[in-house]
Amino acid sequence: MAQEMRSPIESGCPDAFQYMHPVMRKNYGQWAYHEDPQPGVLLHVSKNGDKIWTVRAGTQRILDVFTLRKLCDIGDEYGEGYIHFTIRSNIEYQVADEAKVEPLIKALTDAGFVVGGTRNSVAMLSHTQGWLHCDIPGTDASGVVKSMMDELIGEFKEWNMPNRVHMTTSCCQINCGGQGDIAINVQHTKPPKINHDLVSNVCERPSVVARCPVAAIRPALVNGKPSLEVDEKKCICCGACFPPCPPMQINDAEHSKLAIWVGGNHSNARGKPTFQKLVASGIPNNPPRWPEATAVVKKILKTYKEDAKDWERMNDWIERIGWPRFFEKTGLPFTKYHIDNWRGARASLNASTHIRF
Ligand code: SF4
Ligand code: SF4
Repeated sequence: MAQEMRSPIESGCPDAFQYMHPVMRKNYGQWAYHEDPQPGVLLHVSKNGDKIWTVRAGTQRILDVFTLRKLCDIGDEYGEGYIHFTIRSNIEYQVADEAKVEPLIKALTDAGFVVGGTRNSVAMLSHTQGWLHCDIPGTDASGVVKSMMDELIGEFKEWNMPNRVHMTTSCCQINCGGQGDIAINVQHTKPPKINHDLVSNVCERPSVVARCPVAAIRPALVNGKPSLEVDEKKCICCGACFPPCPPMQINDAEHSKLAIWVGGNHSNARGKPTFQKLVASGIPNNPPRWPEATAVVKKILKTYKEDAKDWERMNDWIERIGWPRFFEKTGLPFTKYHIDNWRGARASLNASTHIRF
C-alpha cells in the first residue's frame, strides 16, 4: 500500500499575510502612492482610494519581553492590533482610521518610545546578532545602537538630513555586517593568541586551516600535542579562525577596535550601488557608551548635514566633493592605511587551493 506523503515541516518564515492589517492585505500590490504627513508617520493610498496610516517607533532590536508586551498592548489599545518590525528594528503600527494616529503617537511617547525614522531622518541603527545569538562577536551590538541613538535622537525625530541616513553596526568584520551610509564595525588589530592545551580537544584542525582566507594557519605539534600555528606576517587579523576554534582567541579589550566606514548603498534607485570605504580606524571599543565612536559618527553627520545638497545620500555627497575634501571637511585624519592599492594582494589574498564553505 502506498504510504501517505508526510506533510512538510514548516521551518522557514511563517506566511506574513496572516499577520497583515486587512487593508494592507486587500491592497497588496495595488498602492497608488504614499505620503509623509509628519515625521514617523506614513500614509499609503491605494488605487481604489483605501488609506492606511503607519506610525513608526524606534527600538534597539533586542527587546526584553516586558517592553515587547508594552509595545503590543499599545498596539491593541491605541492601534488596530497589527504591528510589524522593519529591517532597521523599528516597530510599525498600522491604522485605517486617521483619528487614531495622534493618540497612538501620544501613547508611545508617554511610554518613553520615540516616534520617527522616516524620510530624511537618521533611521534607527541596524545591528547584527551580537552576544545573544552569535559565537564570535568582538563587541556588543544593541549597546552600541542604544548609546549612539540616545545621542542622535533629535535626528531620528526630525527631517533635517539632506536625505535618509542608514547606519549599521557589526560585531565582527567578516560575516553578517551590512552596508550603510555609515557603518561601525569591529576591527581586530593583532593575530589570534592560541591556547595550545585546548586546540586538540576543541578544534577540528583541518576546518580551521581551511577557514583562513590567506592560508596563514598550519597544523603544528606543540609540546607533543597536535595544535596549530599562525604565520603572523600573513595574518590579516580577520577573526575567521575564532568561530571554529575558540582557543584561537582574537577578542582583546585593548586590541579589538572599532572602524568606521561610509558611503555604502545597496539601492540602485538613482545611481549604482556603492561600496563603503574606511574613514576612521583604531577607535576604542569602549562599552558601555562608546563615546569615541559616537563622536566620530556625529562629526560625519554634522558635516554631511551642513554640506550636502538636498536629496544627496552620503555616497552622492562624497562623490561630488571628492575624498580629499571629505577628510578636510570632517577633520578626520587621512593616513596611508586608508589606501589599498592591492599590490600586497598576491601575498595576502587567497593563496591556497582549499575549498571553504
Ligand atoms: S557581525 Fe559577526 S559577530 Fe556579529 S552577529 Fe554577525 S557574524 Fe556574529
Ligand atoms: S583566519 Fe584571519 S585571524 Fe585567523 S589566522 Fe587567518 S587571517 Fe589571521
